[in-house]
Amino acid sequence: MNIIIFGPPGAGKGTQAKFLVDKLNCFQVSTGDMLREEIKKDTEIGKKIIKNMNDGKFVEDEIVNKLLENVIFDVDKSNKLIFDGYPRTINQAKNLKILLEKSNQKIEYIFFLNVNKDSILKRIEKRKILEKRSDDDADTILKRYDTYMEITKPVLDYYSKNNNFHEVDGSMEIKDISQKIEEILGV
Ligand code: AMP
Repeated sequence: MNIIIFGPPGAGKGTQAKFLVDKLNCFQVSTGDMLREEIKKDTEIGKKIIKNMNDGKFVEDEIVNKLLENVIFDVDKSNKLIFDGYPRTINQAKNLKILLEKSNQKIEYIFFLNVNKDSILKRIEKRKILEKRSDDDADTILKRYDTYMEITKPVLDYYSKNNNFHEVDGSMEIKDISQKIEEILGV
């Protein structure tokens, strides 16, 4: 089963994606993690990515879409994908649709973790200490939240019309969010 987990930065997408990976024996598709891997390799693309990430901006669709292709066409992962942080733009949503059709797959569930700005700021302050991410300072978080609202919100509106779309209160305790998601999935 392929699932999209959607939500603003700090909503807990990664945490919930990891739970589902274990529970359903699936694979996490975190474009954020893929991009951080590129940065570690210190390539020209990596340098471009880090600038965008640290400025709280999105990385170009072209780069992200390309990274995604390898995962979608990996037959071992087919129909076992948990998307965390992708798609984030309408262009990416359309790209995903095309790639899934080409590989004979579809999205079964879309979860939107809805959390307000204040809760996110508090959470990210904690994550900054735990994960030491360079894009987790308060200014960058606010920029990332605003970018999300501006660019990702239309994607949310696009998906929310689907009957496999489920909004979950992302300000609940982590375990309660998981429980709610599992309840909907029936697992
Ligand atoms: P994340 O780990 O999902 O919070 O992503 C961290 C950062 O990576 C974002 O703030 C963006 O700069 C970049 N990023 C991750 N996924 C995408 C995506 N699908 N499209 C564009 N930029 C992305």
